[in-house]
Amino acid sequence: MTAQEKSLLYSLLNNADCLFSGRVSSDFAPADFKDDAEITAQVSELTKDAAAEIKKIALDIAQCDGCVLCKTRTNTVPGIGKIPPVVLVIGEGPGADEDRTGEPFVGKAGQLLDKMLAAIQLSREDNCFIANIVKCRPPANRTPLPEEAQACSHFLQAQIDILKPKMILAVGNTALHNLLDTTAGIKKLHGKFFNYQGIPLLATFHPSALLRDESLKRPAWEDLKLFRNKLLEIVPDYQSSYLNGGSD
Ligand code: SF4
Repeated sequence: MTAQEKSLLYSLLNNADCLFSGRVSSDFAPADFKDDAEITAQVSELTKDAAAEIKKIALDIAQCDGCVLCKTRTNTVPGIGKIPPVVLVIGEGPGADEDRTGEPFVGKAGQLLDKMLAAIQLSREDNCFIANIVKCRPPANRTPLPEEAQACSHFLQAQIDILKPKMILAVGNTALHNLLDTTAGIKKLHGKFFNYQGIPLLATFHPSALLRDESLKRPAWEDLKLFRNKLLEIVPDYQSSYLNGGSD
């Protein structure tokens, strides 16, 4: 709809209101309408700006020597996905496959994560961004040390500030501990909602843990259903971007 059409509709509705309520047209605040095409262009500009800022962070990460992990990495793994996303998924750190490819959650655990997300109509192509607590691989896939997570935290914070996800899914103990500043384990805190800087966050099991222990798959699925239900409250049509292949 053009701005002129919107303006005409607005004055028609105002006139109708005056007729029935006895108010006068000067009671209505003047409205500044924009063409739909102009609004779409502005949204697309914002998306372009966010994508450029995310790319700039990835370049900064590639140069980073903020902790010892820079010495053993092959590639940095800044994160990947839809910009802006509905959901931000946060894991621990790159493994061997991720270090080799520069992409988060590839290999068996990544394939399982993709299946978990698809079960609730989420994907990295359509409506999710996937990142980690640390952007470089810890040797032998050990858990990142607190000082490494601390040194890397400003990158994740910058990504969150730009991406502004509607919800966060934290997978595994490392994400849980670092995001919520807790030492409680994932077995205790999974399936509960937390407020992370105003964003609803739910923690569930890391897909690597599910590959090691099949019995965790049922509680993980229950967590995902809770996550989906909450997301439907916040973004009722979030599934349309998945079903339409990210075109929404
Ligand atoms: S893990 Fe983070 S802080 Fe450490 S070198 Fe890599 S990008 Fe820098």
